[in-house]
Amino acid sequence: SIGKTKTTEKADRATVEQAIDPRTRMVLFKMLNRGVFNDINGCISTGKEANVYHASKSDGQELAIKVYKTSVLVFKLKAAGIRCPTPYLLRLHVLAMEFIGKAGWAAPRLKDASLSLDKLREGYMEMVIAMRTLYQKCRLVHGDLSEYNILYFEGHLHIIDVSQAVDLDHPRALDFLREDCVHVSDFFKKHGVGVMSIRELFDFIVDPTIADDSIDIYLEQVQQKIMARDPTAEDEIADSVFVQAYIPKTLDDVKNAEEDVIRLTSGQDTEDMYYKTITGLKHALPRATGTKSSSSDDDDGNS
Ligand code: ADP
Ligand code: MG
Repeated sequence: SIGKTKTTEKADRATVEQAIDPRTRMVLFKMLNRGVFNDINGCISTGKEANVYHASKSDGQELAIKVYKTSVLVFKLKAAGIRCPTPYLLRLHVLAMEFIGKAGWAAPRLKDASLSLDKLREGYMEMVIAMRTLYQKCRLVHGDLSEYNILYFEGHLHIIDVSQAVDLDHPRALDFLREDCVHVSDFFKKHGVGVMSIRELFDFIVDPTIADDSIDIYLEQVQQKIMARDPTAEDEIADSVFVQAYIPKTLDDVKNAEEDVIRLTSGQDTEDMYYKTITGLKHALPRATGTKSSSSDDDDGNS
């Protein structure tokens, strides 16, 4: 492992550094300065709670360095405008953060807040927008979102307990997101709020083509749809199928991509193609999905 030239090592290190967030890099540099190791060579694994790096000392001894992600994630939330406790300090596994509450009384959990139906409706909208922001801006999925990890304070919902949140690059990120959707929906539905189907909520969160300034209009339309909806067993079945379906994350994970494209372009039923919203395919192929694109006319010769 010491056979590399100095330049290659430098280049390697640059690549490694790019993949490491600033806080983690700080911790690693401190260790480097203290002589815990002399070189950090690369990433062995990116997991749900931690990344593991391969490091070595100048005498050739090898080390595995595990960096827990809590630090990365708690500092990412707030900047995107998510209502959550401001993190003050994280040392080892101890997080000091803003207190959500007053005079020693922690704000109630959403579960215990006994809100009016109007407040619950507002809260539902606030929560689905927060979930979308978390996904689109922070590139994170909470992973344990429910009425137990949401506090109600000063008229707003605050998300807490983010230590198990995952980056979108986590292989199961979309499964966790779907679970979050189920838990949030179940709570509000149970309390009489008209909610989107799990599929609709999931699509709203992951759809990269919804512009920030059209979110309100989008949600208004969804609201109309919910109100007009005749709740049938069919919706429930469609949702229960969606909740159990495998959602490919990238086109590499799609087994029959070519076949799927043919189905899309030939206008066949593609309701079961769960990845088309995540990837933006749905909107890239407006004619196939039956929605009319305003920006592109019939001017391309795509095959
Ligand atoms: P756990 O991992 O045990 O679920 P949580 O982060 O959900 O830990 O916190 C447990 C409880 O502690 C919450 O339900 C809430 O009552 C209280 N709590 C946690 N963070 C805060 C905070 N920043 N401000 C006020 N209360 C908090
Ligand atoms: Mg909790």
